[in-house]
Amino acid sequence: MGEMDLNLSVEQLRNVGSRNLPRLAKLGIKTVRDLLWHFPARYEDYSKVVTISEIEPGQKVNIQGEVLKMSSRMIFPKRMSITNALVSDETGAVKVVWFNQPFIANSLREGALVSLAGKANLDKHGLYLSSPTYEKINADEYPFIPPAGGLTHTGRLIPVYPETEGVTSKYLRFLIKPILKNLKILDPLPEQIIKKYKLPSLEEAIAKIHYPTNDTEANIAKERLAFDDLLLFQLKALLERRKLNQLKSVRVGFDQNLIQNFISELPFELTRDQKVAAWEILKDIGKSYPMNRLMEGDVGSGKTVVALIAAIQTAKAGYQTVFMAPTEVLANQHMETIRKLISHTDIEVALLTGSIAWSTCSLQSSQGGLKHRPESPLRAGKKSNIKKRIASGQAKIIIGTHALIQKDVEFKNLALVVLDEQHRFGVAQRAALVKNKEIVPHLLSMTATPIPRTLALTIYGDLDISLIKEKPKNRQKIITKVISPLQRKSAYNFIREEVNSGRQVFVICPRIELADPIKEIKGKNKQSKMNILWSEAKAVEVEYKKLSEEVFPDLKVAMLHGKMKPKEKNEIMDKFKNKKYGILVSTSVVEVGVDIQNATIMMVENSERFGLAQLHQFRGRVGRGEHQSYCLLFSLTSDKKINQRLKALVECDDGFLLAEKDMAIRGPGEFFGVKQSGLPDLAMASLANVELIKKARLEARFLLKDDSSLTNYPLLKDKLEKFQRLTHFE
Ligand code: ADP
Ligand code: MG
Repeated sequence: MGEMDLNLSVEQLRNVGSRNLPRLAKLGIKTVRDLLWHFPARYEDYSKVVTISEIEPGQKVNIQGEVLKMSSRMIFPKRMSITNALVSDETGAVKVVWFNQPFIANSLREGALVSLAGKANLDKHGLYLSSPTYEKINADEYPFIPPAGGLTHTGRLIPVYPETEGVTSKYLRFLIKPILKNLKILDPLPEQIIKKYKLPSLEEAIAKIHYPTNDTEANIAKERLAFDDLLLFQLKALLERRKLNQLKSVRVGFDQNLIQNFISELPFELTRDQKVAAWEILKDIGKSYPMNRLMEGDVGSGKTVVALIAAIQTAKAGYQTVFMAPTEVLANQHMETIRKLISHTDIEVALLTGSIAWSTCSLQSSQGGLKHRPESPLRAGKKSNIKKRIASGQAKIIIGTHALIQKDVEFKNLALVVLDEQHRFGVAQRAALVKNKEIVPHLLSMTATPIPRTLALTIYGDLDISLIKEKPKNRQKIITKVISPLQRKSAYNFIREEVNSGRQVFVICPRIELADPIKEIKGKNKQSKMNILWSEAKAVEVEYKKLSEEVFPDLKVAMLHGKMKPKEKNEIMDKFKNKKYGILVSTSVVEVGVDIQNATIMMVENSERFGLAQLHQFRGRVGRGEHQSYCLLFSLTSDKKINQRLKALVECDDGFLLAEKDMAIRGPGEFFGVKQSGLPDLAMASLANVELIKKARLEARFLLKDDSSLTNYPLLKDKLEKFQRLTHFE
């Protein structure tokens, strides 16, 4: 075979019929390239050949021997063919059975030498190999030793692929293997990079990832292929960055007096990290091109005030800032925090969500002060008033939910967008918020989900990052305990004592697994989302019933879950805040950002089901006030390994460190934004490989340095363009 056209449709391959075409498409396989890039999920180790006497039922084995008998017949009425063989070596003989592969009888005649790899089963007729992969061996090669780098099917590591109905690994091997034989692929990776890092060629990597002779070979191939993707990611990030830098933004000048005054009036001292972050942000918004910054900081590290400093500066320059929160609860909370912190200024702040709309101005005039909350829900007409104040530019800081702001708010002169817990917000989305499309607002994303650095560099490579690692001085250490089933009762007693002495408790429960998760996934997206909500609600209801009726009938218990309406949720949160309940049973909706200073216990049911980073988030919900706080991790399992993982939380309260641990344990796929990033699986799996990521970053810089449109590397340029189209975020 000469040079194979990778863009050739798999339809043109000899063994793909009209029946298999849609099935392959389901796996994303349409062209020969797709087929070659359909990498094994794992390998089955058939590299060790056993003798027939060593075969044990239930095992996957590789044997070699001579075909003693061979016959094939049809069974009616099932219209199925059965091929039977008997294969022997010097230690014995074993039966072999194949279904619906009558052609085997023609290719493996009696007397042929064969290598077989497959599962040994035992039934009433005795031991047999069930549909093994087979390979003929030449007499002069027997006993057969697989040649290094050869493309045999047995006596080696066998690829096991992601499969789908009707497309087995066996079939995929059957399709892929022949293509690998005389593979010629033009390598888009520049030669100097291949040489510098001694990488295998693309052809070699592709051949070896499918058919490695050992794990080392497989890993070298994987690393090379992951590098390709990581390089593309970095190139894309750098180019996006350049593009952004060519756009125009409002230059918000730095007014040292203003900022110093504001900071000195704060009821607390900023931490060093807060000051550094504020400085980085102020510097960015002083530039004439858009800021694109992610501020990462643990829960309670004080991100809001840092963003607020930028908003104050922006307001004083005469421009508007919008704070966008993912939920109404959080939007309300931002309003609370911000309103308090700027009560000594004359800057007007407006809140706009589905159920509430008000601005600090209306309070000033009607109630003479800023202390009162407006009555909710909103009265008709009020929302439009607030919108007017935003459109006229009177309201300088606007707080709302993503959904509402993006849908129907018109700003006068928006210069800064602050996003809570949403990392991605493209240029087009930003531009959509402003009338003058020539001017793109600055963007500051805030997240309390620490992301390991390598991950951030890869999937957020186009963002600058500010880290707030230090916690405010007045924060206390939260006592964390793993609670075994035996200790449950005394933990409940402890909770009762706390509530009786006036404190409050969160109880988090994980979603109940549905009986048939497959069906759930296969159903329409909307349906499966409903199911997930349903199972969350169910879990909370069950726990709520148990706690309110059996365990704490003497205490006030409330529940909160994702199936409730925003208004309902707000009401419950408000009541909890006002100490109307002692215990709040909830799903992970309280995970992000909720601030209840009087809550001192975070109790998590089935904590083994959550990731470390998420548990750390939960823990951050308590310890916000003056009282000693506790995080109680209930675990149903006595599995040492799992509880070991939970112990990491007991010992460590650094969210960044926990994130690294989480990535090591559960892989990067669990982190927010990773799955949406479009990062291919292999590259994803290499995100813990710091060296590889550094190399990719370095080389991407080199490549673009004097040749920003990659004219010297047309193949790479072509690949990058395809990739950009594929992973466009907007
Ligand atoms: P997060 O980073 O989780 O969003 P917030 O910005 O909501 O944290 O801050 C949590 C609380 O801590 C707020 O009430 C805020 O006013 C307060 N706070 C912020 N910075 C400091 C500080 N340096 N010292 C003491 N309290 C602070
Ligand atoms: Mg926050």
